[in-house]
Amino acid sequence: MATSPYGGPLISLDGAVDLHCHPYPDLFPRLADDIEIALAARDAGMRALVLKCHHESTVSRAYLVQRMVPGIRVFGGVVLNSYVGGINPAAVEAALRLGGKEVWMPTVDAGYHAQVHGGTGGYDAQQGGRRQAVTHPFFRVPNLDLDTVEEVARLGAMPEFGYCTVSPAWQYAAPEKIVAAVGRVGASRCLLVSDTGQRHNPMPSEALRVFAQTVFEKGVSEQDVVTMISRNPYDLLDLDSADAPPRPVDLAWAARLNADPCLAPAAGPTPAPQPQ
Ligand SMILES: [Zn+2]
Repeated sequence: MATSPYGGPLISLDGAVDLHCHPYPDLFPRLADDIEIALAARDAGMRALVLKCHHESTVSRAYLVQRMVPGIRVFGGVVLNSYVGGINPAAVEAALRLGGKEVWMPTVDAGYHAQVHGGTGGYDAQQGGRRQAVTHPFFRVPNLDLDTVEEVARLGAMPEFGYCTVSPAWQYAAPEKIVAAVGRVGASRCLLVSDTGQRHNPMPSEALRVFAQTVFEKGVSEQDVVTMISRNPYDLLDLDSADAPPRPVDLAWAARLNADPCLAPAAGPTPAPQPQ
């Protein structure tokens, strides 16, 4: 446990992972871009980030950021909104084979989102694996109750609580509700993320630190906080094997994609030479 030079215990972000942040480029206004957010997270001592965008895959963005910002692992994923054809298995396969780490179910284009926010493609206040995670269960959507959160965790999903939900601008839940849910479900089944990038919130690394410190000061042990910001995300991202080279089956798949069937020689017997 680190200690503030001005007194009191401090939760450290050393080795922490943010599975959910929202950089620019985006159709919504954002606080900072991919590279600025990655630099801030690296300088805060974090080990990995997952970039999320409601309107495009972040897999290739993450690859390029990774090349430019050494010292932290940067991953992307795809949200199954209308821009990729909704629930589209081909988009999922391509994203994962290209190195994506997360596939999110529809967000701003989901039916329940339209019911709550009056339409798809934006928010009323902001126009614009091996386990499953239940993203921000206490956000305005899906706004699950504690019993339902406990039930989905029992069925194998991991509640992913975000600072964004308790942020001053939106206040969809109090930190005490998050603490109660962690107590019911157990830290080994929960995740803490920033879910920030909005202009009214701190940078994702600082939002995650504030959120982790708040949950700690509200009664969750340091060990459990570290489990939720480090150990569980490591397992979900399979970080210990993230540096493994691509599998032969993936390389073969990519080679087939790159081959232009119009230029490939036609199968069958070689034609007889023609007179000049
Ligand atoms: Zn989000």
